[in-house]
Amino acid sequence: MDFELNEEQRDFQRTMREFVDKEIKPVASEMERSGEYPTEIVDKLKDMGLFGMTIPEEYGGLDLDAVSFAIVFEEIARGWMGIAGTLGSHSLSCWMIAQFGTDDQKAKYLPALATGERRTGVGLTEPDAGSDLQGIRTTAIRDGDHYIVNGRKTWITNARHADPLPVMVKTDPSADPRHKGMSVLLIEADTPGYEVLRDIGKLGYKGPESCEVVIDNARVPVENLLGGVEGRGMQQALPALESGRINIAARAVGIAQAAYDAALDYSRDRKAFGQPISDFQAIQLKLADIATNLQAARLLTYWAASEQAAGKRADMQSGMAKYFASEVAINASLEAMRIHGGYGYSTEYVVERLYRDAPLMAIGEGTNDILRMIIAKSLISGRDSIG
Ligand SMILES: Cc1cc2nc3c(=O)[nH]c(=O)nc-3n(C[C@H](O)[C@H](O)[C@H](O)COP(=O)(O)OP(=O)(O)OC[C@H]3O[C@@H](n4cnc5c(N)ncnc54)[C@H](O)[C@@H]3O)c2cc1C
Repeated sequence: MDFELNEEQRDFQRTMREFVDKEIKPVASEMERSGEYPTEIVDKLKDMGLFGMTIPEEYGGLDLDAVSFAIVFEEIARGWMGIAGTLGSHSLSCWMIAQFGTDDQKAKYLPALATGERRTGVGLTEPDAGSDLQGIRTTAIRDGDHYIVNGRKTWITNARHADPLPVMVKTDPSADPRHKGMSVLLIEADTPGYEVLRDIGKLGYKGPESCEVVIDNARVPVENLLGGVEGRGMQQALPALESGRINIAARAVGIAQAAYDAALDYSRDRKAFGQPISDFQAIQLKLADIATNLQAARLLTYWAASEQAAGKRADMQSGMAKYFASEVAINASLEAMRIHGGYGYSTEYVVERLYRDAPLMAIGEGTNDILRMIIAKSLISGRDSIG
């Protein structure tokens, strides 16, 4: 087994690391506090081609390998997890359009999505359906060469910048099983009846907006049905969510790394009872736990990414990585806060932001309980095994 990044991946990691240290870390806390949208950072991500990470080269994308894709999210989240959000659902939907779109859809959208001139997100969750995606109520009823779309989506990250927004709908609300009536429609932002209603206040994950979207009798051309065939929505979204989970796992690794870095530095500087607190065994045990779990989370994430890169179905692997790494990030940020004593509770130190950002990693792209069930089902059915 090879536990090393290859030379190209190491170079890429170095570039990302330098970028994050220079352009994101120094401004993250202040920008987060001010609530200002990180336009300048997003423009730099565009210059680096990162909006085209999951887009094939023929459409102007970078077509990054899955491990490098994970490195992008890990490094950015080490600086500020919120920034990773501007790329997350964008990359997921670009991958979905590249994999499943018609030739016309790919030609129309992918080149501009690759540069970031156009951006996107993903519209799955509704006020009454999150984990139970098949319970959505948004309908798209055919009327000649259009669909009439009605429904409401919530928590849609990047909604104010998304054009088009891929939206999960029911093209056959009475289908049994329910997934056979589900499809993805690419809804353009200027479609009458499509409205981004309000930004939802959040504990963390500041930077990108997460919004409620209302769709009221919007007429969407039939050619905007992803892939051109009704009833494939779940088959299109589920594999996209695998790469989404690797992206969240990698963000969690980045948060945990930032927590570890902050805790290590602080413990060397802070003195109590006449010595650095890093001399106390109680602090050393915490540092050892954070470092060990962090490294395990990183390896699990790179492993899941490698499995996906090898073209395997990786829902168990990406589920394991996201589940484990997100719990590690939550614990690491809390332990880093304890190591900082009272200063850990101050907005002047980075750990309070890490502590607010980490829990989302246990919710987004499937809650950890749902993922544990996916992992178990995959093992029980014999589709996957370990050991
Ligand atoms: C900041 C943020 C950004 C987001 N961005 C997006 C986005 O861009 N696009 C998008 O579509 N969605 C987005 N989401 C939504 C997110 O994907 C959902 O919140 C998540 O899938 C959980 O769905 P839910 O909130 O409806 O919770 P529910 O599904 O209602 O779950 C509530 C609780 O019940 C548990 N539960 C549910 N079903 C079961 C079961 N069968 N067995 C055991 N336990 C169960 C869950 O684990 C959870 O603990 C975002 C959410 C947040 C907070």
